[in-house]
Amino acid sequence: FSEVDQAAASVGGEWENVRALLGGKGANLADMTRIEVPVPPGFTITTRACNAYLASGGIFPEGMWDQVLQAVAGLEKESGKRFGDRQNPLLVSCRSGARFSMPGMMDTVLNIGLNDDTARGLVQLTGNERFVYDSYRRLIQMFGSVVSGIPDAVFERQMDECRSRAGVDTDAELSADDLKGLTDAFKRIYRRHTTFPFPGEPREQLKMATEAVFKSWNGKRAVDYRNASAIPHDLGTAVNIVTMVFGNAGAGSLTGVALTRNGTTGENRIEGDFLKNAQGEDVVAGIRQTNDLSELKDEMPDIYAQFEQIARRLETHYREMQDVEFTVENGRLWMLQTRSGKRTARAAVRIAVEMAEAGLITREEAILRVTPEQVDFFLHPQFDSQAKAVAAAGGALLARGLNVSPGAAVGLVAFDADLAEMWAREEGKAVIMVRPETKPDDVHGMLAAQGILTSRGGRTSHAALVARQFGKPAVVGVSELKIDLGKRLMTIGDTTIKEGDWISLDGTAGEVYSGKIDTIVPDIMDPWLIKLLGWADGCRRLGIWTNADNPDDARRARTYGAEGIGLCRTEHMFFEARRLPFLHKMIMSDLPVERREALDALLPFQREDFAGLFRAMDGLPVITRLIDPPLHEFLPSHVDLSHDLTDLKIRLKHADTLEKVDTLLQQINEKTKVLKRVESLHESNPMLGLRGVRLGIQIPELTTMQVRAIFEAACMVAKEGGAVHPEIMIPLTSHVNELKSQRDILEVEAQTVMAEQGIEIDYKFGTMIEIPRAALTAHQMAEHAQFFSFGTNDLTQTTFGISRDDAEAGFLIRYMSTGILPENPFATIDRDGVGQLMALCLEKARSVNPDLECGICGEHAGDPQSIAFCHQIGLTYVSCSPYRVPVARLAAAQAAL
Ligand code: PEP
Ligand code: MG
Repeated sequence: FSEVDQAAASVGGEWENVRALLGGKGANLADMTRIEVPVPPGFTITTRACNAYLASGGIFPEGMWDQVLQAVAGLEKESGKRFGDRQNPLLVSCRSGARFSMPGMMDTVLNIGLNDDTARGLVQLTGNERFVYDSYRRLIQMFGSVVSGIPDAVFERQMDECRSRAGVDTDAELSADDLKGLTDAFKRIYRRHTTFPFPGEPREQLKMATEAVFKSWNGKRAVDYRNASAIPHDLGTAVNIVTMVFGNAGAGSLTGVALTRNGTTGENRIEGDFLKNAQGEDVVAGIRQTNDLSELKDEMPDIYAQFEQIARRLETHYREMQDVEFTVENGRLWMLQTRSGKRTARAAVRIAVEMAEAGLITREEAILRVTPEQVDFFLHPQFDSQAKAVAAAGGALLARGLNVSPGAAVGLVAFDADLAEMWAREEGKAVIMVRPETKPDDVHGMLAAQGILTSRGGRTSHAALVARQFGKPAVVGVSELKIDLGKRLMTIGDTTIKEGDWISLDGTAGEVYSGKIDTIVPDIMDPWLIKLLGWADGCRRLGIWTNADNPDDARRARTYGAEGIGLCRTEHMFFEARRLPFLHKMIMSDLPVERREALDALLPFQREDFAGLFRAMDGLPVITRLIDPPLHEFLPSHVDLSHDLTDLKIRLKHADTLEKVDTLLQQINEKTKVLKRVESLHESNPMLGLRGVRLGIQIPELTTMQVRAIFEAACMVAKEGGAVHPEIMIPLTSHVNELKSQRDILEVEAQTVMAEQGIEIDYKFGTMIEIPRAALTAHQMAEHAQFFSFGTNDLTQTTFGISRDDAEAGFLIRYMSTGILPENPFATIDRDGVGQLMALCLEKARSVNPDLECGICGEHAGDPQSIAFCHQIGLTYVSCSPYRVPVARLAAAQAAL
């Protein structure tokens, strides 16, 4: 280990390269040796040697073994002991250690060098027969299972028998004779399973152990772990040969593990466990009751003080919380390993903040050390990871779908919105609403539910949008899920789940489980998170706005740090029960005067809606988008209407009073009218049809009413003393003339209202960029718009020509699994296509209007990778759902650093 500088020089001195060559454990052991932390003498066989060994099908690279023997000779010299010596034998461990920590996934053999002769010598030397035979039986056990593949259970069974024969509960109570007997029994097991005697020659033991560690790189556990953690498979493992120090050498000996800070809460206090008179694997294996590290302070105050000082030193040296292993052999402390410690999201935030406050790292480093996913953790209930693993192991994981809205939800399955609402509101039950897909008139059920599950739909489906908006965990597009609404049950594979059964949804991972899994609820008001996000705000250039349709959402987003509303989808306001009849009337009427009446009735509702938003966002900009979806979305579906009509006609046949006949005829008449209207509004491609600005041009009274409502509300709030900054956004424009024609009409209305109210309002008119043509003609658009906002849901749909509503539950899955598309373009901006259009659009627009405000309000605005792109091309802000605001604040800062 002391020659690490030579190894470092051979890879150009970069620490990352040293880690790649020596593995994390080897590099840190060498590094600790360099800074004079007590580390037992040892050396590392490089990952390069491992890769050569594996590539050649199991032959050591030329010269490697000679070098190992030379290095062993070096250890002999340094320790004054000799490998295989009967008087003073050297024992070593052979430990795996890859570049990235893969805890417990590869193999290790301890106590190499023991055989019958050296064991006897060691007994003479130490006078501790118990310790020697405990070490010897451990060697045979580990060697047997790691090198020769003997199931560990065979050895454990023998141990059980030995304990019961001796009448004791723990290994620590076994006598020297018991252990001697076990050693012999283990040797017999070894011979029986391998047909060879246990190898006694220390160099042979070392060679076989080294090969086994090399091979363990490709063991199933290791491969699975790498697949799950995205660690490349071609790195190889290093092998560390380290002089043994013994935590099981008697009363003054122990072994332990510690974290320099609490890994769950992040509290700055060393935490750990130790075991007296034991070897390292006993602590990790959890077979013996460990002692809390604080007890060491009382029992061995000097050792504790030295340990504490080293732990602090290591933390300062690595500027990171450390996870250490140590051993005390006869009153002397040795450090066996240090690496950065695993931690929860909450601990990650607190540790980063406290380290920055202590000057150990900079604030920028603190911001970069926390991931956006860790911030997201604070905003939603989460499953206890252990409970989830247990559930999955028990076969409760039913299916995977799109993870469109994070968090954990547990509840009773309800197959319709009314039932979900009734169970939740009236009976206080936790409910998961399960539907093939959701529609705007399901929102009450979604709001009442803990979570939402659908079998169809994609990342921008109604279910996904609403779930994210309200912070409801949701998994959508679970194609294996077959819902039978008639029988009130669903099937996934062989499993049938009835209405009222419990299920658990992991919206973060996109997983569906049967039964209940325990959840934990973190807290967004965590003081360290608030501080970290405050620092992030000081670093970012992008503004963070929010998509909000009602004052509650707006207020929530504001407490999370939103600096404006980037999208209010006004159509969402129409779905409220008191407004829908007027909207229906407006859609159904052919007479201008009737239409006018319906719109006049809607106006006060909309005015109240907007006033609420202005009050909530006092002083901040509020972008209101004029009505966007095709009108048929506000009417019942053709299928439902036909179904209702058939039903009414059957009832008519059986009507037994004139009065009933009359009522039914009237109802049939009404339904038929609506059906005719639905048929007349039918389009083959509604997403490319009469929607967005086209609606405003077709029915100007509708958008004029909306603009009047916005300005009346703005004037009203301004008169109350509020500061209002309305921005009116026209959706789905593709030609500058559309924009001009709508804007001309709408500006007149705005001016009229302000004149009526006798007050001037600071406002802007702008457009969404959702169609490639709009992006390509941005220089023309920018002449008539004071702001742009990229609607990347539609822009992705129109650029790829892929339906945002269907594709994610269909062919897109195959596109992603086969690598045709590296990523879901509805989740992360496709930089090469959609992104290029955005950059080009921005360049053209700013060539005519350099100060043009330009943001993004598609779902990508909450995705950290897309946020980095938005920063790069120079957008003004990103506007995401309220629950993504804290995540976006961090991601925007990270993009700027
Ligand atoms: C968009 O298309 O990106 C957008 C924000 O509008 P909507 O999702 O309402 O179509
Ligand atoms: Mg859109």
